Parts: sequence; structure tokens; C-alpha cells
Amino acid sequence: MGGPAPEEPPAYVHGRVPEELPAYVYDLAELDAHVSAVREALGDVELHYAVKANPDPHLLRVLARHVDGFEVASAGELAHVRGLFPDMPVALGGPGKTDAELLSDVARLHVESPNELRRLLAAGRPADVLLRVNLDVPVEGASLAMGGGATPFGMDPDGVAECVAMLERQDAVRFRGVHAHLASGLDAPALLKLAAAVLEYARGLGVSEVNLGGGMAVSYADPAARFDWRAYGEGLASLRRPGEVLRIEPGRSLTVYCGRYVTRVIDVKRVHGELFAVVAGGTHHLRTPATKGHSQPVAPLPPGEPVTIVGQLCTPKDVLARNVPVALSPGDVVEFTMAGAYAWNISHHDFLMHPAPGFHYLPDGAAG
Ligand SMILES: *Cc1c(COP(=O)(O)O)cnc(C)c1O
Repeated sequence: MGGPAPEEPPAYVHGRVPEELPAYVYDLAELDAHVSAVREALGDVELHYAVKANPDPHLLRVLARHVDGFEVASAGELAHVRGLFPDMPVALGGPGKTDAELLSDVARLHVESPNELRRLLAAGRPADVLLRVNLDVPVEGASLAMGGGATPFGMDPDGVAECVAMLERQDAVRFRGVHAHLASGLDAPALLKLAAAVLEYARGLGVSEVNLGGGMAVSYADPAARFDWRAYGEGLASLRRPGEVLRIEPGRSLTVYCGRYVTRVIDVKRVHGELFAVVAGGTHHLRTPATKGHSQPVAPLPPGEPVTIVGQLCTPKDVLARNVPVALSPGDVVEFTMAGAYAWNISHHDFLMHPAPGFHYLPDGAAG
């Protein structure tokens, strides 16, 4: 785990390292090419981007060229996206919506509970809703499970039935279909199995629009491994019946690869036999390894004795990667890859009041 990624170091390592480190470096050309390939593999399936994975405007501008819309999970994300792209379709989801969120003007509202629907109906205003279902299906192999058992996300089929009955008695709120984001970290065959179950369920309710959520697998242990978008797109095409609208809303699998957290070694030391490299910054900039419990992958460096790479925070939890077999000395630049999603934006930035990292965007040709 955490060994060097099997890829060439980017050109900027040689003479173009940002002067001020730590820094996030986003490769917008990589993002553009990746999302364009995903878009193509999906055929007729609609693609939304889950903004919570990384709401950086530079990334959203590249994504906006390829996606059909954005999925947001709060009024804050909604205002952010609307400010950048006033005309892009937006779907609003998430448990615990405030009244302001519930009554916001969006293309699709993902209803999470019978009480939420009651509040929406009481407001007496039109809306287009998908009912978020938590189906009782196995989600083995998932890194996070939002469904397939008791969780606070969406409704079980009884809750959905309660909502359907409420929707039948009125016509202001239109029942467009079903939403299901059941697990994250699944590969294409596992996600297709879930998709088949969700589609069958939606057909039973007589609706033809289905949002299958996100959660496409990303491997921090094997950065070269990629979700098989072609197999997924082909699988969905064979599941889809004429007239049905399928939509997905990935986050991590779209933006994770385009970002790097670049920093410099401050100190190297051996303590009770174990070798540590202390780098500028830490998990207050890149919290991902702490939350996921993994070693953040490191771009290629000369081989050496396994070293644990830690940040500047005074806590034993400030570990970025363990036992990385690379040679490090004070002053060396270390690049953590796969830092484009759930990285800076989920980190506790102000802990210990260290300075913020810089932000650099490698241009993508199309950008002015
Ligand atoms: C977080 C989330 C997503 C995106 O999940 P990823 O694992 O980043 O692809 C999509 N839909 C919903 C409802 C979510 O909560």
C-alpha cells in the first residue's frame, strides 16, 4: 500500500514546482480528457457531477462542458453552482433539508423521507421529485454503504409507498422517478447488479426516470486501476428499455485523479527504530488518508527504506502515508496524487493555524 504510483512525474516537478509549498496542483487537461472519455462511454445515460466531491470553480468549469447537470446537497452548493452556471440543470438531494432548501427552485428534488414530502406538499408549490429509495439489496464490497440496511439515507420501500400515496392525491408535485445512491466503492459489475434491482423496482412503481447515484470505485492502493466506464455504459444500455431515462451522479471517480497535493520535506528522523519524514502541511490540508484510513499514493521517487510521511500537526493522527519505500531527505519535494476529490474541501483547514496551501491550475488548452 502507498507505494509509488506507476506513472511518470509531471513536467512541473522538473523546474516548475510552485515556489510556495504546500500547494494543490490541478491538471485541468487531465480532467477534461477523463470526463470526456467517461461521457462518451455512457452513451445515452445522463451524467451529473456530485459537487460535494470538489466544488472548485476551475474544476466545475471544465466539468460543465461535459455533464448534463450538477447534483448539490445544500443551499450553499446550490448558490455556488447557480452563481457559476445560471442555466445548468441542478438536482438537490441530501438528508435534513431545511425549508429553504426544500423549496428551492431546481430541476429535480430528491425526496428523502415521508415527512420531507409532507413539508413540500404543505407549501403548495410545484416541484419535480425523485423518491430516494434504500432497497434491501446486498452491497458487499462497498467502501461506504448508504443503503442495503438501516441508514439515515432515503426511505425503505414502505416509506416510498407512503410517499407515492401522498403524491397520487395531488398534482402540484410531480412524481418523476426514483433515486438510489446505495453504496460507494463498487466496481462496474457490482454497480450494474444494483442498477438492475433499482430499475426493476422503479418499473414496479410505473416510473421511467431513474437516478442511480454515484459511488464508482476508486482505488488509492492501486492508482492505475480505473473504474470500467465502458463496461458500465454498455451494461446500462442493455438494461435500459425504450423511454426510460437513466442518470448517474458520480463525484470522486471524476475529479480524484486530476489533483495533487505537493509539499516539501522539512525533517527526517528515526524514532524507536521507525523512519519518519515530516512534510510541510499535513492532514489539515489533505484529510483524505485520515478519514479513509489509507496511505495517500505518492508520485514516483527514488527507492529507499520504508518511511512514514507525516505532517506538521501535533497529533499522531497526522499521517499522510505509512511505510512508503522511497528515499527522502529534507528539502525534497513529495507529491501526493489522487488529491482531486474529498481532499482540500473536507479538511479541517484552520487546525493549528498553519498557512493554507497555494492553488495552481495546469491549463487545458480550451481555457482562456
Ligand atoms: C456523495 C454522493 C454522490 C457522489 O458519490 P461519489 O462516491 O463521490 O461518487 C452521489 N450521490 C449522492 C446522493 C451522494 O450523497
